Amino acid sequence: MMEVQITCTSCGSSIEVLPDRSSSKVECDVCKHVQEVIFTADHEVGSLTECPVCRRMDFYKQKDFNRKIGVTLFLIAAILSIWTYGLSLVGLFLVDLFLFQKLSVVAICYKCRTNFRKLKNMGEIREYDHEMNDRIVYSDHDFKGKPLSH
Ligand SMILES: [Zn+2]
Ligand SMILES: [Zn+2]
Repeated sequence: MMEVQITCTSCGSSIEVLPDRSSSKVECDVCKHVQEVIFTADHEVGSLTECPVCRRMDFYKQKDFNRKIGVTLFLIAAILSIWTYGLSLVGLFLVDLFLFQKLSVVAICYKCRTNFRKLKNMGEIREYDHEMNDRIVYSDHDFKGKPLSH
């Protein structure tokens, strides 16, 4: 099942939701702000065509790096390096390389930064495009799911 992580427009907290056509609102646990969402049958089968929050169709994908785990690992390695003469930091580098290969991919909405995980159609989502991002964020351009063309 596709996992959706919405950023609260009011306080910036993450709100985790699963697609469900019968629910049209999600509430932020932190500030109780209510966000409207529109889930479709596509979402329920794990296919991302339209953003449930802003209705845009422009997404990019990137490696899904868990920052908290990364920071914790680094701290452990840094402390251990006192006794291992820095070898643990070399070990961390290798673990990092290994993890990076195994990381999952997350799709992100250019417009509202909603994150989507476990998509069936991840192969159709394109890589991040700097120009598209600028035009969507700063000029409010709507590409309607089409790639940038000059
Ligand atoms: Zn909030
Ligand atoms: Zn969106």
